[in-house]
Amino acid sequence: MACKPGIVTRIGMYPSLNGDVRSQCTDMPEIDSVATTHYTAPTDTLHHFADRPCAMLSEFELISRFFTRPAHSAILGIGDDCALLAASAGTQLAISTDMLVSGIHFFADTPPEPLGHKSLAVNLSDLAAMGAAPRAFTLALSLPSPSADWLTSFSAGLFALADRHHCELIGGDTTRGPLNICITVFGEVPANKALRRDQAQAGDDIWVSGTLGDARLALEALQGKILIAPDTLAPALARLYTPTPRVALGIALRDIAHSAIDLSDGLKGDITHIMNRSQLGACIMMDELPPGTLLSSQPRAYQYHCMLSGGDDYELCFTAPPSRRAAVEAVARQTDTPLTCIGYMTQQPGLRLIDANGKETYLADTSFDHFATP
Ligand code: ADP
Ligand code: MG
Repeated sequence: MACKPGIVTRIGMYPSLNGDVRSQCTDMPEIDSVATTHYTAPTDTLHHFADRPCAMLSEFELISRFFTRPAHSAILGIGDDCALLAASAGTQLAISTDMLVSGIHFFADTPPEPLGHKSLAVNLSDLAAMGAAPRAFTLALSLPSPSADWLTSFSAGLFALADRHHCELIGGDTTRGPLNICITVFGEVPANKALRRDQAQAGDDIWVSGTLGDARLALEALQGKILIAPDTLAPALARLYTPTPRVALGIALRDIAHSAIDLSDGLKGDITHIMNRSQLGACIMMDELPPGTLLSSQPRAYQYHCMLSGGDDYELCFTAPPSRRAAVEAVARQTDTPLTCIGYMTQQPGLRLIDANGKETYLADTSFDHFATP
């Protein structure tokens, strides 16, 4: 669908849904000519934006105005060919990249402030899943046309979260193209203390943080797949737009958990990654799954669908030996994070879902896979 510049036709951030990407806007809201008239760049600084149709920011004005801040923990930040970062003694660097693509992970007219938050949050969530402390990140940004208003809001959302986690922006790349946000995060973890997917052991408890499924509920409400009164949707929308990366929890679990993963594609698929990497099976007690605030008033079957197959929760799922239950509960109190034991790892391969009557049940839903055939 063609989108009239400057008119927001739809709000909502749409994470990947198999075969379910709707028609979308591909244009950014038009540039605010008042805000940008004084940013007409000399021609020798025009690179990727050389074909700009009207008064717009040059590539380097854009970087310096919206993304350059003094380096604190980095030896050298934005402005050179590389940033320089010194790893602390006795630590290993944890590095992860996540890309958010317009029309795949969100609609182009998604409000920019939560989009800035979410772009970094999904990356910090990966650090959390490894028990790593955030240090720095880079931002590769492709924009159809640089709008000062959009960039102001986007960078506000991005830096608010970055500052909360003392994670500094140390570089990136900026180009004209379809809206695409790619962040690489750098974290630190004491040598050999990282929480990996391949270290689960048979008999480990499986735990999840927070609640599951409200992000999926919000998505399906925005899509019109389920009817929810708009004035009650806010808490679920917050889960979809502005997920909370469980950084403190991941760090606190370093010496307790055997393995961990963050829940981005749905519990059913994400626990399978731990199973496969650890060459084990898992048994999940469906009745123990903690539904989100809004989801808990929905029919049980729908709750299971959202909790097991809905993505975008960005909670942590981890395994720990039953002997460490008291330690896990202490971490829950210390980090003020609800933690729920939802099952256990098994020597027997495969995922078994056990219902309230103790019967094994089957859920046809699968987690999201970008390349799965519909
Ligand atoms: P190069 O051409 O050497 O790759 P660039 O000219 O693309 O460098 O970028 C100039 C500086 O600005 C570099 O330090 C780069 O890391 C930084 N930079 C570019 N885009 C961004 C961005 N979106 N956010 C943060 N830093 C950026
Ligand atoms: Mg570059």
